[in-house]
Amino acid sequence: MSRDASLDHLHPIFREKAKAVLESLAEESLPFRIFEGFRSPERQRYLYAQGRTRAGAIVTRAKAWQSYHQYGVAADFVLFENGRWSWDDRGKRRKWWQQLHQVARDHGLEPLSWELPHLQLQKMKLADLQAGRYPKDGDMAWAEHLEDAILNWQDPASAPPLPPILAERPPLPEEAIPVFYQVTARSGLRLRGGPGTGFSVVGSLLPGQQVRVLDWQQEWAQIDLAGDGLADGFCHGGFLAEV
Ligand SMILES: [Zn+2]
Repeated sequence: MSRDASLDHLHPIFREKAKAVLESLAEESLPFRIFEGFRSPERQRYLYAQGRTRAGAIVTRAKAWQSYHQYGVAADFVLFENGRWSWDDRGKRRKWWQQLHQVARDHGLEPLSWELPHLQLQKMKLADLQAGRYPKDGDMAWAEHLEDAILNWQDPASAPPLPPILAERPPLPEEAIPVFYQVTARSGLRLRGGPGTGFSVVGSLLPGQQVRVLDWQQEWAQIDLAGDGLADGFCHGGFLAEV
């Protein structure tokens, strides 16, 4: 749940803009760095709890999957001076934060009025991100990192859809996909008429029996008992091992 400042985990559109902002800031000798970019939903939940169900000051308005950080389209830029992070906005530094926001707007990033360091991609709607309508041209570095966050999240129903670019990963060649399996359940397995326990039992498999799997429907395997290429029913794949 640690803080992640990696540019790789940001969406490429945001990543390029963030780099351009850093370059412009360096040209103006403004000592900002990226403090945090991608933020996991677990870390967002942890930060949301601060000042609410946990001690400390309130630091965010957003719950898990409600912050642009979870989608890699936001980052927090913080002053880094003499080896220390600083949120100081008094005196001469007040103007520095204003300059940060101006540079950000020049590059198509949007500041928040209530959270000085936060910059996010302009013209994005949270509802679009939550529905999986991500900015176009996402790359694998961003997509696979977001995939991890989605698959690791405890409550799949509240996570967003996987980035569509992941579907472009080439499938295994057919000959590399195992077809023969052995039943590993001590008491055998029920064969059902369809892929689910709601389908009626049409037969049974013995412990250790070898079967051919014709197809998978999620965790349900379509079984060919006679080896003639015709389906005899479905059984749960949790007790099947590759031969
Ligand atoms: Zn932020």
